[in-house]
Amino acid sequence: MDKLLAGYRRFRANGWPEQRRRFEALADDGQRPQSLVVTCVDSRVDPAMIFDTVPGQMLSVRNVANLVPPYAPDVAYHGTSAALEFAVRVLKVPHIVVLGHGLCSGVRALIEGAPQDAADFVAPWMSMAASARTEALREATPEARQQMAEQAVIKVSLANLLTFPWIRDGVAAGTLRLHGAWFAIRSGVLLTLQPDGTFQAPP
Ligand SMILES: [Zn+2]
Repeated sequence: MDKLLAGYRRFRANGWPEQRRRFEALADDGQRPQSLVVTCVDSRVDPAMIFDTVPGQMLSVRNVANLVPPYAPDVAYHGTSAALEFAVRVLKVPHIVVLGHGLCSGVRALIEGAPQDAADFVAPWMSMAASARTEALREATPEARQQMAEQAVIKVSLANLLTFPWIRDGVAAGTLRLHGAWFAIRSGVLLTLQPDGTFQAPP
């Protein structure tokens, strides 16, 4: 915690004077973010850095392996689904981006099985992407399997987004667009999901 508080002091000394007007405007006028990014909890993936956004521009919800669960309005505690509802129905964001990444430990747990100490929640959570695992196991090398699964998980999340009636309606009406993207940690390169199902560098 000491390191975090040292960072906070730097923010107050260096960042805050610059940012103050922005935050005051956001406090007075509220937020009108234009996108929601669903990404992984991984500390190496920072959507605000990747998309070079400032506070107020982009919502983010993070979980293990950027998974969107299927629409299930029951009594369970649905953190990701609650964030989706807030973003889409309350703030009316026009874009949702599912941002996956390379070297994803959650996806590795999907392929190789979760570590024993991550069996309470990680293993059942990742099981919703079982179809991505099946697809990835056709690849020849461990690296290819990992990357294939990471990209297939993004497609699982995009398909599950369409099980939410108010997302499906927004997409059909043209007021909401869904996007997939995959970030390579080592090279810092972003690939985006194309209509043909491949991931390519954006122009
Ligand atoms: Zn990850």
